[in-house]
Amino acid sequence: MPDTFSTFEFFQKFPNEKSARKFFEARRWAGESHCGHCGSINVSECKDHKPMAYRCKDCRKHFSVRTGTVLAESRLPLLKWLLAIYMLTSARKGIPSTQMARELGVTQKTAWFLAQRIRETWMGGNDDKMDGQVQVDETYVGGKEKNKHADKKLNASRGAVGKVAVVGMRDEQGQVRAMPVKQTNAATLVKFVKDNAPESGEVVTDEFRAYNGLAAQGFTHKTVRHSAGEYVRDMAHTNGIESFWSLLKRGYIGVYHYMSEDHLHRYVNEFSFRHNTAKVGTLNFINMTIDRMVDKRLTYKDLTNG
Ligand SMILES: [Zn+2]
Repeated sequence: MPDTFSTFEFFQKFPNEKSARKFFEARRWAGESHCGHCGSINVSECKDHKPMAYRCKDCRKHFSVRTGTVLAESRLPLLKWLLAIYMLTSARKGIPSTQMARELGVTQKTAWFLAQRIRETWMGGNDDKMDGQVQVDETYVGGKEKNKHADKKLNASRGAVGKVAVVGMRDEQGQVRAMPVKQTNAATLVKFVKDNAPESGEVVTDEFRAYNGLAAQGFTHKTVRHSAGEYVRDMAHTNGIESFWSLLKRGYIGVYHYMSEDHLHRYVNEFSFRHNTAKVGTLNFINMTIDRMVDKRLTYKDLTNG
């Protein structure tokens, strides 16, 4: 069982802002404060932490644990950042910004921006190939309710007007990668497979013709029909990635209601990141998120002009 903790335990661990700061510092610096500007360890702590917690004796600049991270331009207490990460960790279907706002005691706009920056830290880091046989599939999110059941028709122009296509892959370890794509043509889907699947590996898809070029790229391409008999016969199936789609769609319909196309990649990645880390436990999840905050930056302007 993963080592998860409750909201009650969260506040026992982090009763105040100081405990949150100590936690961030311990993770980032492992006991030795580093200047966020030049990396020097020749630093001193400032009285009352004004203007900032530390001052570097080499480059003479002030810094804190936020310097050089996605937290740098945020004035929100670190405890609220920790609580927001914790909330996003434990919610399988995501958290609406209205609920996060209520629980953090901030405006909905602040909660939305905070959550987007946490999602941004979870982006990337998928440069290596996935493991073993992979299942590849696409789905569609958004669009009109009456079209929601039409997205599996096997024709060259799958999907419906107003929907955004998302392509995904699940490997033998159960890890998932997924991203929105502009088109579901052969060029896009085959490239996604080449970028993520093991070279010359086994790839299972349905019979959508855009996948037909996979064999020519050296993959062992198995196709399944969307019928139970086919799954049983050769054990190749796409059930794993399909169950991920149903989780994504439950989040979309039940929690986020409307994922703007500009931000959809971050929401889709949120679901796959949480899925892939479901077994690591709460503390490891928070630590992984803090590690990813370094050297990242996302301003409100970046997000809203996007
Ligand atoms: Zn320095």
